[in-house]
Amino acid sequence: MMPLLGLGTWRMGESGRRRAAELDALTFGLSLGYPMIDTAEMYGEGVAEEIVGEAIKGVARRPFLVSKVYPHNATRSGTVAACERSLKRLGVERIDLYLLHWRGGARLEETFEAFHRLRAAGKIGDFGVSNFDRDDMEDAARLDKGLNGSNQVLYCLSRRGPEFDLLPWMRERSIPLMAYSPLDQGRLLGKPALKKLAAEAGCTPAQLALAWVMAQPGVVTIPKSSSRARVEENWGALDVELTPALLAELDRAFPPPETRQPLAML
Ligand code: NDP
Repeated sequence: MMPLLGLGTWRMGESGRRRAAELDALTFGLSLGYPMIDTAEMYGEGVAEEIVGEAIKGVARRPFLVSKVYPHNATRSGTVAACERSLKRLGVERIDLYLLHWRGGARLEETFEAFHRLRAAGKIGDFGVSNFDRDDMEDAARLDKGLNGSNQVLYCLSRRGPEFDLLPWMRERSIPLMAYSPLDQGRLLGKPALKKLAAEAGCTPAQLALAWVMAQPGVVTIPKSSSRARVEENWGALDVELTPALLAELDRAFPPPETRQPLAML
C-alpha cells in the first residue's frame, strides 16, 4: 500500500535563493494533506533532503517518505552509508521506501543485500528501483522474489510507453508504478488537446493530466512544484471526475503505444 499522490522535489535545493519558496511549497502541501514526498540524495546533492527534513519537522502526521540511492553509492556498504546520510538529512529514523535511482554502478545483488540489511534494521520500510525497464525488472525479480516496493519511471499522457509491457508485467506482480514527470516537466500543459478537454471538464490541464495518471490501475504519482498555488492546483486533481467519454477523448489525443518502446529516462 502506498499513497496515490505525493510531492516531487527534483531541482529543489539547487539554489539558496529559491530555498524559502521550496520549503514553503512543501510545508503548504503537507498542510493540504499530501501524504507522500519523493526525494533523492542526488537532488541538490542532499540539500533537497534537508529541505524535506525541515518541512516535516513537527508535522502532526508524517508523510510517507521516498528517497533514492545514487547507483555509484549502491554497493553493499555504500548503500547503507548513503541511507544513513539521507536519514540524518531528513531527520527521521526510517525512510518508508528506498529506491535504487537507476541501474548501473554496483551489482544489483549487492544493492539488494544492503536493502535487506537496512529493512531488517528498521531503517527503511521497503525498497524498490527506478528507471527499470521490463528486462531490468525481470533480472531484479529473479534476484529478489519478494520485490514489490515500486519502480519509479517516466510516465504521463504524452509518454505512455510503459503501458505496452512494463506496466502489465508490474500489475501482475502487484508492484506499484510510481510515475515521475507526470506533467512532462510542464511541457504537457501547453498541448491544445489537453487544454480543450480540461476546459470542457471544468478543470485545469495539470489537474486533468494528473487525474489521468492516477486513474491508471497500479499507478501513483509525484508532481513537483515550488509554488503554493500550483501545489494546491495539483491537489485538486483528486476531485476530477474522469468519465468514460473523457477517457476515450484522451486516448484519441494521446494514443497508447502499439509497439514496445524502450523506457524513456530523464
Ligand atoms: P513534473 O512533471 O512534476 O513537472 C514539474 C514542472 O512543472 C516544474 O517546472 C513545475 O514548476 C511545473 N509545474 C508543476 N505543477 C504545475 C502546474 N499546476 N501548472 C504549471 N506548471 C506546473 O516533473 P518532475 O521531473 O519534477 O517530476 C516529478 C518528480 O518525480 C520529481 O520532482 C522527482 O521527485 C521525481 N523524478 C524522479 C526521477 C527519477 O529518475 N527517478 C526523474 C525525474 C523526476 P514550478 O515548480 O515552478 O511550479
